[in-house]
Amino acid sequence: MSFFEALEPEFNSFVMGNAPVRQLATGFDWVEGPVWFGDADCLLFSDIPNNRIMRWTPGAGTSVFRQPSNYANGHTRDREGRLISCEHGMRRVTRTELDGSITVIADQYQGKRLNSPNDVVVKSDGTIWFSDPHYGIMTNYEGFKSEQELPCNVYRADPATGSLTAVATDFNCPNGLAFSPDESRLYIADTGRMFEKDPQHIRVFDCSADGTLSGGGVFHVISPGCADGFRVDTDGNIWSSAADGVHCINPDGILLGKILVPEIVSNVCFGGRAKHQLFITATTSVYSVILNRVGAVRP
Ligand code: MG
Repeated sequence: MSFFEALEPEFNSFVMGNAPVRQLATGFDWVEGPVWFGDADCLLFSDIPNNRIMRWTPGAGTSVFRQPSNYANGHTRDREGRLISCEHGMRRVTRTELDGSITVIADQYQGKRLNSPNDVVVKSDGTIWFSDPHYGIMTNYEGFKSEQELPCNVYRADPATGSLTAVATDFNCPNGLAFSPDESRLYIADTGRMFEKDPQHIRVFDCSADGTLSGGGVFHVISPGCADGFRVDTDGNIWSSAADGVHCINPDGILLGKILVPEIVSNVCFGGRAKHQLFITATTSVYSVILNRVGAVRP
């Protein structure tokens, strides 16, 4: 069997036909939020329903990194390498300092509690951009069922000033997000309200140097499944979650090909020795595959 499905010929040069999609760890309930720490040679990821962040180390396997994790979901690293986390349970975005202490980046907007921050990315100027859908407060499965106080917005937090700005306010449920390599574009997924047949797509915004967004048209419709989380390679291709694996979408919005994964994929990140290894969180397991592409700077 092949682990890949090329829909456009160039996809064949993005992958290595003899590189396996390997299951690295399994036995979780819903994994998401992968982030690579090259300096520690490990991958962190969330096992959300079990309220823990796991660590996978090549050759050493899997161990618990943090439990309870406040039902953490998406992670990334800031420009100083510190862990930035979205917490459903505490309805906040945090930074883990190098000494292990926790700094709250954002937990309210205009005096109201955030919903359940889901995914996060850091821009080169140090600002922290995150989505705030309501998934984590709808039930007690991935957080604590509670009242929604705010619309499902996308925010930009500036740790230098403490400011929090709503940058996109017309989503059903924003989810994964990533900048293009030159940061002129911001891609944001809308995964819609649960239990309703909302469109599953990625929108694209033009991002000005001062951080304001414009545009926002539909960039690509994901099928089957949804663009829960995604990352961008150095050529600007988007590697997105889908129900049948990972979809590779070029900067024109064309689906080039797929990495086939036997479980529904939630998110991905690049890492490994040469940033050419794609780590894939998928329902109960974590997979990885070596690509002939390199992840963009932001982890
Ligand atoms: Mg997500």
